[in-house]
Amino acid sequence: MNNLHFKPKDILTNPNQIEEDLSLERTLRPQSFNEYQGQEKIKENLKILIGAAQHRREPIEHVLLCGAAGLGKTTLAHIIAREMGAGIKVTSGPAIERVGDLGSILTNLTEGDVLFIDEAHRLNKLIEEVLYPAMEDFKLDIVIGKGPSARTLQLDLPHFTLIAATTRPGLLSSPLRSRFGITFRLDFYQLADIENIISRSAKLLDIKTQTEAIKLIATAARSTPRVANRLLKRVRDFAQVRGDGAISGPLSKEALAMLEIDQLGLEPVDRQILNLIIEKFDGGPVGLQALAAAINEEQDTIEDLYEPFLMQLGFIVRTPRGRVATRQAYEHLGLKYLDSNQNKLL
Ligand code: ADP
Repeated sequence: MNNLHFKPKDILTNPNQIEEDLSLERTLRPQSFNEYQGQEKIKENLKILIGAAQHRREPIEHVLLCGAAGLGKTTLAHIIAREMGAGIKVTSGPAIERVGDLGSILTNLTEGDVLFIDEAHRLNKLIEEVLYPAMEDFKLDIVIGKGPSARTLQLDLPHFTLIAATTRPGLLSSPLRSRFGITFRLDFYQLADIENIISRSAKLLDIKTQTEAIKLIATAARSTPRVANRLLKRVRDFAQVRGDGAISGPLSKEALAMLEIDQLGLEPVDRQILNLIIEKFDGGPVGLQALAAAINEEQDTIEDLYEPFLMQLGFIVRTPRGRVATRQAYEHLGLKYLDSNQNKLL
């Protein structure tokens, strides 16, 4: 409980992209719908959308992809562009600082291109306003000059498809949200999909793995492909030092224990959050602000990084008065749950 110094970037199961992922992701990123595991409904819908658009010889409608970090939004955007036979330009909400930045991105697109904006909830409002006419009418309004002599010039843009990704759809302004033709919500993955992802990655990285090891790594991967690939790599490193490089069941168990990742994929900081809610705040409800202060972390980090998976496991519930730990959380930590706690969930 005293060790409260974990920072998101040090955390192995952090689903956000960190530097070591970059080269790994280049090798492992699926290039087609066939290679992209799971999310079957979304793939089906996209195939229809793309097929129909190709039939009409038009770009597809603007697409909004929502879902926790590491679930495959960027990968999907690249696959959509490839299936459309289109080029893709990649940027992100915080990278577009000035209206001029967006202007130059938009005017450099060619007909049919995909523009991928990651972290779209972090676009500033002025930029959003320039996006509206660009998305709707493929027009860009540029203001030339200042004061009374200022003039507005309207440029025609090529027909493009905006694919925006966000971990926090609730933070997108409603005018922006309403301009997407279609929204997809990516769910956490089924265990079998994560197992397939790990098997595929092991093959691509030429790592020998036993079925039992794949199962163990998959259950610890927080139902998230990025975490699955990162864990595979760590267990491989462990196997190279401790064994002959092949990954057996017992060896992966040992590696995960050394990394302090439990059988559900929780690591020390997750368990600290649960322990705090249970012990310091008597099981909750506790407000996000108080929780963040208690673990010395940003509120956004808790909301973006830890909570989604703890909620997915059913360990935390959000109530109007704050976060409450559930019976499953107590049981996972080996703590006694009083039935009277049940009232807190209401
Ligand atoms: P996001 O943009 O949602 O944060 P990414 O698209 O960058 O996530 O995915 C992270 C990594 O996880 C990718 O590089 C890829 O290797 C892997 N990945 C994601 N989704 C899938 C999938 N459905 N099948 C196989 N691998 C996947």
